[in-house]
Amino acid sequence: MSSYIFRCQFCDAKPDPLTQVSLEKTVVEVTFGAYIDAMPEKWLVWHGHGPYGPPRYACNEHRGDLVAYLRNHYGAIGPHPWKKPPYPTKLGRSDRAERKVSLGKGSSMPNWSKNPSS
Ligand SMILES: [Zn+2]
Repeated sequence: MSSYIFRCQFCDAKPDPLTQVSLEKTVVEVTFGAYIDAMPEKWLVWHGHGPYGPPRYACNEHRGDLVAYLRNHYGAIGPHPWKKPPYPTKLGRSDRAERKVSLGKGSSMPNWSKNPSS
């Protein structure tokens, strides 16, 4: 059971179940002034917060309307509403990818012989 209800702010559409999951994931992202694409229906999420207002959602059909709305209302505050697509489907992914640095497996360790004096 989901505790979140998402509605397109222009046509009252509701996301399909998979998109609903994507939208719920964006709720926990702590961010400020960012667009996110919620797949697979490709809803647009606006994470405003602070001066950019509350989070806003738009269905695929109205994502352009949401962008226009935000630029109209918040465009003077800062550069965030002017960001151009493609938008990320999830924030913080690049941070996670960076952790997958492969460690060399010991081959670079010098193979010293034992200290003869011991
Ligand atoms: Zn809509």
